[in-house]
Amino acid sequence: MNKLNPILVTSPLLPPLEEFIPYLKDIWNKKWLTNNGYYHQELEKALCDYLGVKYLSLFTNGTLPLITALQALRITGEVITTPFSFVATTHSLWWNGIKPVFVDIDPITCNINPDKIEAAITPHTTAIMPVHVYGYPCDMERIQSIADKYGLKVIYDAAHAFGVTVNNKSVLEAGDMSTLSFHATKVFNTIEGGALVCRDEQTKKRIDYLKNFGFAGETTVVAPGINGKLDEIRSAYGLLNLKQVDNAIEKRRQIANQYREALKNVDGISFIGDIPDVRHNYAYFPIFVDAEKYGMARDEIYFKMQEQNVFGRRYFYPLISTFSTYRGLDSAKPKNLPVATKIADSVICLPMYPDLNNGDINKILKLIIKL
Ligand SMILES: *Cc1c(COP(=O)(O)O)cnc(C)c1O
Repeated sequence: MNKLNPILVTSPLLPPLEEFIPYLKDIWNKKWLTNNGYYHQELEKALCDYLGVKYLSLFTNGTLPLITALQALRITGEVITTPFSFVATTHSLWWNGIKPVFVDIDPITCNINPDKIEAAITPHTTAIMPVHVYGYPCDMERIQSIADKYGLKVIYDAAHAFGVTVNNKSVLEAGDMSTLSFHATKVFNTIEGGALVCRDEQTKKRIDYLKNFGFAGETTVVAPGINGKLDEIRSAYGLLNLKQVDNAIEKRRQIANQYREALKNVDGISFIGDIPDVRHNYAYFPIFVDAEKYGMARDEIYFKMQEQNVFGRRYFYPLISTFSTYRGLDSAKPKNLPVATKIADSVICLPMYPDLNNGDINKILKLIIKL
């Protein structure tokens, strides 16, 4: 057993160090380290271009854009969301004093099931917070038509959906706002970082006040803001990483295809395929284990892989709705969430990152394919 070289679920995309040094020297010379600096402005522009969006505000992580979006849209009461996500989605509601209402997910895409949303709407509902989980686009049209019918806002947690488009249109353009995470583990990273995408200039202005304590001028505070600013060092790092992200997504695509080709005939193992007209980013490679057909429970194969130094992750197990903060809610009851419960109990995300090599891929596949 090789203890020294574990294969982890992900490995961060790092810009070449020698290319980063001149940026650092420039920042040292300018002595402008944060507060909407030169590189911060550059990165906002570059990301708008790359992602095909008009209004984007950078943040110091991917959780503050969620919290700030809810503030900017003055969301209160109840918000309909998915239990099948990273905890930050629901925590952002809790931090705003909003009651999360969990709705079950679609068995194919693992995203919130639009068929289940209307039944969860009450007079207190003010918004829907769906997640493009694993980077697979939600049914944005259906969700919008429900939102329009009931006068609800829609905030997408697009933390997994960097660069994802449908018919060449960014998924970040759907709903009222979308949030991104640039955490080290994501497809594009600024070590820690994130962004909030909105629809118009006035809203961007408000978001920019909110992420800077509410300051609208030297002595004017217009809202109870927070400190969500991204610094110059990580902004410059982001500019460099953005140059190699297309290449990184292409490598991820090739790895996904290798996994799919090798696993397509394995009884009891399934995965999500590409969707026509979608540019995927291959952020994750989830497989779903049918214990009966595969002859082994998910956790059994998961821990067997760990014994061989292969560390997938059971994203998203346990469901957010099972954590102590949320499990008392009516909508958190497992009988309300049968599909999410089943998927959370069967998923393993396999290692997926651009420099995952063929030897490691073959090792992972051999562990899953019973020869
Ligand atoms: C990563 C992630 C976040 C939070 O992002 P941070 O940058 O880690 O704060 C939010 N939602 C989802 C779905 C995520 O995967």
